[in-house]
Amino acid sequence: MHPEDSASWWGHLREIAAQTCSLVAPRQCPCGEEGTLLCARCIALLEAEPQRVEQCCDALQELSAARVRDVRVGAQLLPAGVDHTPLLPVLALGEYEGDLQRLILAWKNGGMLHLAARLAPALLPAVHRLTAPTGAATVHLVPVPSQRSARLRRGEDHTAELVRAMQRCGAGHALTLEARPTTAQDGQGARQRRTRRIVLSPRSIRRAQRVPGPVVIIDDVVTTGSTLRGMHRALTDAGMDVLGAVVIASARMPPGSDGTR
Ligand SMILES: [Zn+2]
Repeated sequence: MHPEDSASWWGHLREIAAQTCSLVAPRQCPCGEEGTLLCARCIALLEAEPQRVEQCCDALQELSAARVRDVRVGAQLLPAGVDHTPLLPVLALGEYEGDLQRLILAWKNGGMLHLAARLAPALLPAVHRLTAPTGAATVHLVPVPSQRSARLRRGEDHTAELVRAMQRCGAGHALTLEARPTTAQDGQGARQRRTRRIVLSPRSIRRAQRVPGPVVIIDDVVTTGSTLRGMHRALTDAGMDVLGAVVIASARMPPGSDGTR
Protein backbone atom coordinates (compact mmCIF):
# COMPACT_ATOMS: atom_id res chain seq x y z
CA MET A 1 0.00 0.00 0.00
CA HIS A 2 1.28 3.49 -0.92
CA PRO A 3 2.09 5.61 2.17
CA GLU A 4 -0.49 8.23 1.13
CA ASP A 5 -3.17 5.58 0.63
CA SER A 6 -2.25 4.18 4.00
CA ALA A 7 -2.62 7.62 5.62
CA SER A 8 -6.03 8.20 4.08
CA TRP A 9 -7.08 4.66 5.06
CA TRP A 10 -6.18 5.41 8.67
CA GLY A 11 -7.97 8.74 8.37
CA HIS A 12 -11.12 6.96 7.20
CA LEU A 13 -10.82 4.43 9.97
CA ARG A 14 -10.43 7.19 12.58
CA GLU A 15 -13.45 9.00 11.17
CA ILE A 16 -15.57 5.82 11.26
CA ALA A 17 -14.40 5.10 14.81
CA ALA A 18 -15.19 8.66 15.93
CA GLN A 19 -18.66 8.55 14.38
CA THR A 20 -19.38 5.13 15.86
CA CYS A 21 -18.23 6.30 19.29
CA SER A 22 -20.32 9.44 19.10
CA LEU A 23 -23.33 7.27 18.23
CA VAL A 24 -22.69 4.94 21.15
CA ALA A 25 -21.60 7.56 23.68
CA PRO A 26 -22.27 11.11 22.55
CA ARG A 27 -20.08 13.64 24.30
CA GLN A 28 -22.75 15.48 26.17
CA CYS A 29 -22.86 17.04 29.60
CA PRO A 30 -25.79 15.85 31.76
CA CYS A 31 -27.18 19.41 31.51
CA GLY A 32 -27.50 18.93 27.74
CA GLU A 33 -24.47 20.89 26.54
CA GLU A 34 -22.97 19.11 23.53
CA GLY A 35 -19.33 18.31 22.85
CA THR A 36 -18.19 17.99 26.46
CA LEU A 37 -18.61 15.34 29.15
CA LEU A 38 -18.91 18.02 31.81
CA CYS A 39 -19.38 21.70 30.94
CA ALA A 40 -17.83 24.64 32.80
CA ARG A 41 -21.14 25.52 34.45
CA CYS A 42 -21.58 22.01 35.86
CA ILE A 43 -17.93 21.89 36.97
CA ALA A 44 -18.61 25.12 38.88
CA LEU A 45 -21.55 23.42 40.66
CA LEU A 46 -19.17 20.71 41.87
CA GLU A 47 -16.60 23.28 42.98
CA ALA A 48 -19.14 25.03 45.20
CA GLU A 49 -18.23 25.44 48.83
CA PRO A 50 -20.04 22.80 50.92
CA GLN A 51 -22.99 24.08 52.95
CA ARG A 52 -24.37 22.86 56.28
CA VAL A 53 -27.88 21.55 55.59
CA GLU A 54 -28.80 19.49 58.68
CA GLN A 55 -31.20 22.20 59.90
CA CYS A 56 -33.31 21.58 56.74
CA CYS A 57 -33.69 17.85 57.47
CA ASP A 58 -36.79 17.24 59.60
CA ALA A 59 -35.82 13.71 60.62
CA LEU A 60 -32.48 14.89 62.05
CA GLN A 61 -33.92 17.32 64.59
CA GLU A 62 -33.72 16.39 68.26
CA LEU A 63 -35.91 18.18 70.78
CA SER A 64 -33.39 19.55 73.23
CA ALA A 65 -35.29 22.00 75.48
CA ALA A 66 -38.85 23.18 76.05
CA ARG A 67 -39.73 26.53 77.65
CA VAL A 68 -43.25 27.46 78.76
CA ARG A 69 -42.33 31.17 78.74
CA ASP A 70 -39.59 33.39 77.30
CA VAL A 71 -36.31 33.02 79.16
CA ARG A 72 -33.49 35.56 79.22
CA VAL A 73 -29.96 34.10 79.24
CA GLY A 74 -27.50 37.00 79.53
CA ALA A 75 -28.23 39.32 76.61
CA GLN A 76 -30.14 36.64 74.70
CA LEU A 77 -33.88 36.18 74.91
CA LEU A 78 -34.93 32.58 74.32
CA PRO A 79 -38.56 32.46 73.16
CA ALA A 80 -41.07 30.06 74.64
CA GLY A 81 -41.17 26.85 72.67
CA VAL A 82 -38.95 23.93 71.78
CA ASP A 83 -35.33 23.98 70.66
CA HIS A 84 -34.24 21.68 67.88
CA THR A 85 -30.70 20.42 67.82
CA PRO A 86 -29.63 18.49 64.72
CA LEU A 87 -28.40 14.97 65.38
CA LEU A 88 -25.27 15.36 63.23
CA PRO A 89 -23.73 17.88 60.81
CA VAL A 90 -24.55 17.30 57.13
CA LEU A 91 -22.66 19.02 54.31
CA ALA A 92 -23.96 19.31 50.73
CA LEU A 93 -22.61 20.93 47.58
CA GLY A 94 -25.95 22.39 46.59
CA GLU A 95 -29.67 22.00 46.17
CA TYR A 96 -31.10 18.91 44.49
CA GLU A 97 -32.56 20.71 41.48
CA GLY A 98 -31.64 21.86 37.98
CA ASP A 99 -28.25 20.91 36.61
CA LEU A 100 -26.96 19.36 39.86
CA GLN A 101 -30.00 17.06 39.92
CA ARG A 102 -29.50 16.18 36.24
CA LEU A 103 -25.85 15.39 36.95
CA ILE A 104 -26.73 13.06 39.87
CA LEU A 105 -29.47 11.31 37.87
CA ALA A 106 -27.15 10.86 34.87
CA TRP A 107 -24.60 9.23 37.19
CA LYS A 108 -27.11 7.05 39.08
CA ASN A 109 -29.63 6.08 36.42
CA GLY A 110 -28.22 7.30 33.11
CA GLY A 111 -25.19 5.06 32.95
CA MET A 112 -22.68 7.95 33.18
CA LEU A 113 -20.51 6.07 35.65
CA HIS A 114 -17.46 8.17 34.71
CA LEU A 115 -19.02 11.03 36.70
CA ALA A 116 -17.96 9.32 39.96
CA ALA A 117 -14.41 10.42 39.16
CA ARG A 118 -15.64 14.06 39.08
CA LEU A 119 -17.94 13.80 42.09
CA ALA A 120 -15.34 12.20 44.38
CA PRO A 121 -12.82 15.10 44.47
CA ALA A 122 -15.73 17.56 44.74
CA LEU A 123 -16.65 16.03 48.12
CA LEU A 124 -13.13 16.24 49.59
CA PRO A 125 -13.47 19.75 51.09
CA ALA A 126 -16.64 18.68 52.92
CA VAL A 127 -14.92 15.61 54.42
CA HIS A 128 -12.00 17.81 55.42
CA ARG A 129 -14.31 20.29 57.16
CA LEU A 130 -15.72 17.52 59.33
CA THR A 131 -12.40 15.85 60.13
CA ALA A 132 -10.03 18.84 60.51
CA PRO A 133 -11.34 20.04 63.92
CA THR A 134 -10.90 16.53 65.38
CA GLY A 135 -7.25 16.26 64.36
CA ALA A 136 -7.88 12.62 63.43
CA ALA A 137 -5.09 11.17 61.29
CA THR A 138 -7.40 8.82 59.43
CA VAL A 139 -11.09 8.80 58.71
CA HIS A 140 -13.24 6.01 57.35
CA LEU A 141 -15.86 6.84 54.74
CA VAL A 142 -19.00 4.73 55.02
CA PRO A 143 -21.48 4.73 52.13
CA VAL A 144 -25.15 4.35 53.01
CA PRO A 145 -25.87 0.72 52.06
CA SER A 146 -28.00 0.64 48.95
CA GLN A 147 -31.16 -1.40 49.04
CA ARG A 148 -30.84 -4.70 47.22
CA SER A 149 -33.68 -3.81 44.86
CA ALA A 150 -31.93 -0.61 43.77
CA ARG A 151 -28.66 -2.45 43.29
CA LEU A 152 -30.33 -5.09 41.12
CA ARG A 153 -32.13 -2.43 39.07
CA ARG A 154 -29.05 -0.36 38.41
CA GLY A 155 -26.56 -3.24 38.44
CA GLU A 156 -24.15 -1.29 40.60
CA ASP A 157 -23.82 0.17 44.06
CA HIS A 158 -23.24 3.80 43.10
CA THR A 159 -22.57 5.20 46.55
CA ALA A 160 -20.05 2.46 47.35
CA GLU A 161 -18.31 3.16 44.03
CA LEU A 162 -18.26 6.90 44.84
CA VAL A 163 -16.62 6.18 48.20
CA ARG A 164 -13.98 3.98 46.53
CA ALA A 165 -13.26 6.89 44.14
CA MET A 166 -12.98 9.20 47.18
CA GLN A 167 -10.42 6.84 48.71
CA ARG A 168 -8.39 7.02 45.48
CA CYS A 169 -8.44 10.84 45.88
CA GLY A 170 -7.03 10.51 49.39
CA ALA A 171 -10.22 11.48 51.25
CA GLY A 172 -10.01 8.53 53.66
CA HIS A 173 -10.52 4.78 53.81
CA ALA A 174 -13.58 3.32 52.15
CA LEU A 175 -15.55 1.10 54.52
CA THR A 176 -18.46 -0.63 52.82
CA LEU A 177 -20.86 -2.23 55.26
CA GLU A 178 -23.75 -4.51 54.41
CA ALA A 179 -27.22 -3.99 55.73
CA ARG A 180 -29.68 -6.81 56.24
CA PRO A 181 -32.80 -6.26 54.15
CA THR A 182 -35.64 -4.90 56.29
CA THR A 183 -39.27 -5.72 55.66
CA ALA A 184 -41.88 -3.22 54.48
CA GLN A 185 -43.39 -3.36 57.97
CA ASP A 186 -40.35 -1.63 59.41
CA GLY A 187 -40.68 2.07 59.96
CA GLN A 188 -44.48 2.12 59.85
CA GLY A 189 -45.03 3.96 63.14
CA ALA A 190 -44.90 7.76 63.30
CA ARG A 191 -41.77 7.60 65.44
CA GLN A 192 -39.98 5.07 63.24
CA ARG A 193 -40.85 6.92 60.04
CA ARG A 194 -38.25 9.48 61.07
CA THR A 195 -35.67 6.71 60.82
CA ARG A 196 -35.07 4.38 57.92
CA ARG A 197 -34.22 1.27 59.90
CA ILE A 198 -30.78 0.03 58.93
CA VAL A 199 -29.63 -3.26 60.42
CA LEU A 200 -26.02 -4.07 59.70
CA SER A 201 -25.06 -7.67 59.03
CA PRO A 202 -23.17 -9.37 61.90
CA ARG A 203 -20.02 -9.46 59.75
CA SER A 204 -20.30 -5.70 59.11
CA ILE A 205 -20.77 -5.01 62.82
CA ARG A 206 -17.57 -6.96 63.56
CA ARG A 207 -15.73 -4.96 60.86
CA ALA A 208 -17.10 -1.69 62.26
CA GLN A 209 -15.94 -2.59 65.76
CA ARG A 210 -12.35 -2.98 64.52
CA VAL A 211 -12.24 0.53 62.94
CA PRO A 212 -9.93 2.68 65.07
CA GLY A 213 -10.82 6.26 64.13
CA PRO A 214 -13.89 8.35 63.38
CA VAL A 215 -16.19 7.85 60.38
CA VAL A 216 -18.08 10.07 57.93
CA ILE A 217 -21.29 8.84 56.28
CA ILE A 218 -21.51 9.37 52.51
CA ASP A 219 -24.74 9.50 50.50
CA ASP A 220 -25.88 11.04 47.23
CA VAL A 221 -28.94 13.08 48.21
CA VAL A 222 -30.47 13.97 51.58
CA THR A 223 -34.20 14.66 51.79
CA THR A 224 -35.66 14.36 55.30
CA GLY A 225 -32.50 12.81 56.73
CA SER A 226 -34.31 9.62 57.83
CA THR A 227 -31.70 7.43 56.09
CA LEU A 228 -28.82 9.35 57.66
CA ARG A 229 -30.54 9.05 61.03
CA GLY A 230 -30.85 5.28 60.57
CA MET A 231 -27.23 5.00 59.48
CA HIS A 232 -26.05 7.14 62.41
CA ARG A 233 -27.95 4.86 64.78
CA ALA A 234 -26.55 1.67 63.20
CA LEU A 235 -22.96 2.95 63.31
CA THR A 236 -23.08 4.37 66.84
CA ASP A 237 -24.70 1.12 68.04
CA ALA A 238 -21.67 -0.66 66.55
CA GLY A 239 -19.45 1.63 68.64
CA MET A 240 -18.34 4.00 65.87
CA ASP A 241 -17.62 7.69 66.31
CA VAL A 242 -19.68 9.42 63.57
CA LEU A 243 -18.39 12.91 62.73
CA GLY A 244 -21.20 13.74 60.31
CA ALA A 245 -22.41 13.12 56.79
CA VAL A 246 -21.40 14.38 53.36
CA VAL A 247 -23.87 14.32 50.46
CA ILE A 248 -23.77 15.70 46.94
CA ALA A 249 -27.09 17.52 47.15
CA SER A 250 -29.85 18.37 49.58
CA ALA A 251 -33.56 18.58 48.78
CA ARG A 252 -33.65 21.83 50.75
CA MET A 253 -30.99 24.43 51.46
CA PRO A 254 -30.87 26.90 54.34
CA PRO A 255 -32.09 30.43 53.53
CA GLY A 256 -29.50 32.63 51.86
CA SER A 257 -27.41 29.76 50.48
CA ASP A 258 -28.67 29.98 46.88
CA GLY A 259 -25.65 31.53 45.27
CA THR A 260 -25.45 34.33 47.83
CA ARG A 261 -22.48 32.88 49.69
ZN1 LIG B 1 -23.31 20.97 32.05
